[in-house]
Amino acid sequence: MADQQLGGGALTRAQALAILTSDDAALLDLVAAAATLRRAHFANTVKVNYLVNLKSGLCPEDCTYCSQRLGSAAQILKYTWLKPDEVAEQASCGILAGASRVCLVASGKGPTDRDVERVATMVAGLKEEHPQVEVCACLGILKDGQADRLRDAGTDAYNHNINTSEWNYADICTTHEYADRVNTAGKAKDAGLSPCSGLIVGMGEADDELIDAVFALRDLGADSIPVNFLMPFEGTPLEDTWLLTPAQCLRILALVRFACPDTELRMAAGREMHLRSLQPLALHVANSLFLGDYLTSEGQEAKADLDMIADAGFVVLAPGQHAAVRHAPGQLAPGQPDDGGAGHARAQEPAIRQRGAGTELAPNV
Ligand code: SF4
Repeated sequence: MADQQLGGGALTRAQALAILTSDDAALLDLVAAAATLRRAHFANTVKVNYLVNLKSGLCPEDCTYCSQRLGSAAQILKYTWLKPDEVAEQASCGILAGASRVCLVASGKGPTDRDVERVATMVAGLKEEHPQVEVCACLGILKDGQADRLRDAGTDAYNHNINTSEWNYADICTTHEYADRVNTAGKAKDAGLSPCSGLIVGMGEADDELIDAVFALRDLGADSIPVNFLMPFEGTPLEDTWLLTPAQCLRILALVRFACPDTELRMAAGREMHLRSLQPLALHVANSLFLGDYLTSEGQEAKADLDMIADAGFVVLAPGQHAAVRHAPGQLAPGQPDDGGAGHARAQEPAIRQRGAGTELAPNV
């Protein structure tokens, strides 16, 4: 299958299912095959992204997986828009730690034009201070003209995840539709923003539904695909939902890599609690991660991530460096879960973020 993909072939549904249902004895072969695609397109580089949560909680939408949803009892930080100087300070911490892309995220169904102006000011300030660093905005469903305004301010990319298959969408949200998300990704792309759209896995989706979602991302032409592993926050409808094993997480990442070989693939939120000790193996499939904390929960220590990248033989992609640059060896660059098994053991609960944006404490960088 790797040879087929390197030759420009398209993954079939039968092949996708074979990846998701492959057994543990074939896991290393699967990772090795996915790694050849990863190396062909991204060499030994890891793109480090850094999240700044501009506005936390208080969302009127009811996405079941989200700690910021309407009615969430999760004890997360709640605050309204950060001031531009705090955004600049938080972003600079991530950039100094190695991030080449900053992701500015705000809770809510979508921005008002005033919100877009606010974020445009933040973006312009960041680009002035760090011209080489990419800025991605994630503000929800966009109205006509808003993507153009963000692009004109210097925004490089726009994230809006499709999260799951069209078929499943009504099960995870009733306040907006799958089509709203696809339309926003299309608007971002049409405006010349790099489209970023991904998944949340581990919500009870069947293998076929997961394949639908991955193939939808392929059709969407996303430039980057974050794969989030459900963090079952206490106080949300999906609390106590522990359906993933570390091995299944690897299979899911491999599926995305095979389906979209040259697309930036990010092992995103929840990697620590679901991939656990297999995170370094996942770096051979995914070529990107978030450093530090997530929107409402704490990630592993930033130093541990940077050490993991180096220990596994990868280098952090420098701002402005193209991910597809090849490096000579040694050269530094600036589902449906298995039934039963120990991997289903209840993992560590999400640790609510108590530092960084919106607090007086230093961020995890
Ligand atoms: S995912 Fe976004 S839109 Fe849905 S509840 Fe969370 S913050 Fe609101």
